[in-house]
Amino acid sequence: MSTFATKNVAVLGSTGSIGTSALEVINSSNGQLRTIALSAHAKLDRLVAQARRVNPRWVIATDRAAARNYDWTGLPPETKLLVGDVGLRQVVQCPDVDIVLAGIVGSAGLRSTWNALEARKTVALANKETLVMGGQLIVQLAKECNARILPIDSEHSAIFQALQAGRVQEVERIVLTASGGPFRGASQDELLQVTVSDALAHPTWNMGPKITIDSATMMNKALEIIEARWLFGVPAERIKVVIHPQSVVHSLVEFIDGSVMAQMSSPDMKLPIQYALCHPDRQPCVVDRIDWSSPMHFDFEPPDPERFPALELGYQCAQSGGTSGAVLNAANEAAVEAFLEGKIHFTEIVAACRSVLEEHRFVANPSLEELISCDDWARNEISRWVCA
Ligand code: MG
Repeated sequence: MSTFATKNVAVLGSTGSIGTSALEVINSSNGQLRTIALSAHAKLDRLVAQARRVNPRWVIATDRAAARNYDWTGLPPETKLLVGDVGLRQVVQCPDVDIVLAGIVGSAGLRSTWNALEARKTVALANKETLVMGGQLIVQLAKECNARILPIDSEHSAIFQALQAGRVQEVERIVLTASGGPFRGASQDELLQVTVSDALAHPTWNMGPKITIDSATMMNKALEIIEARWLFGVPAERIKVVIHPQSVVHSLVEFIDGSVMAQMSSPDMKLPIQYALCHPDRQPCVVDRIDWSSPMHFDFEPPDPERFPALELGYQCAQSGGTSGAVLNAANEAAVEAFLEGKIHFTEIVAACRSVLEEHRFVANPSLEELISCDDWARNEISRWVCA
């Protein structure tokens, strides 16, 4: 059954890659979706330009200092400015918001997702770090509050769609596809020479810098193993990774009878965003359709764990749960930053993460505050590692 009630969407992280695509999806929804709020951290010119196009009720500038120094006269008169985490909280808890699109990158997105779930909102989750950090707690909170988490990560959207072909207890395994990034065929020696611009050139997906580097190290897939573990309640040993360079099959679900369901579409985040925002309905296509009139072929190959040691860390954290995901996530964010600043080599990103994970004092059932302090601790450890 489809209703014509417009859904009000709060787009958090609206100036990033996911947020920008989300605004395109909302714009082409024929009034089924409306942007009620936009949030950005530092790109305030872009935030104001977006606000002038969509006339939201609120804009939220999360960086207080930047907000204070900014000239807001360009904002539409009917749009109210809110600042900081308090502003995010006020918006995600407002009864007029139907869906919160969580597109804030990194661990900064955790609290607003938490607040939205507490307010029983549907969260369209693009921020995988939230589940990597606190999957156990987040999933439990969503259950208690009867709130829904709908995945936007393309692999998890694919799995979510493919799961509808059977029952959860009939799932044999989940197969995450990975493009393999720009260094799929690279040797160990070549990996040692990788520069920042090499790593930022992704062959199939056009994304923000953090996730592009994560794709190159395959840490992105490691984080997605953890994300899938919590989102779908499937143990780590039932999650496989396969390299699929064409990035058309976005992931697969294998059922107990051996039947495998795949979700396919061109590599464009607008589709998983639209699916999450319009769920359970499907809406007319906003991406390029697959062209069946010309020949194509798909490759699938197992990843090489030697060249991509990040995967092993992902499996470890998906298995152990507790504080390990928060530590891996924060260590990786800090290590990627250090790489982008030219302070460490490409291959040191994963090495640094492993060393910080090994040193950390594991807690099996952490609170949200403990997860946040693990996050701080891991970042400090990376700075020490970088200076050592
Ligand atoms: Mg993904």
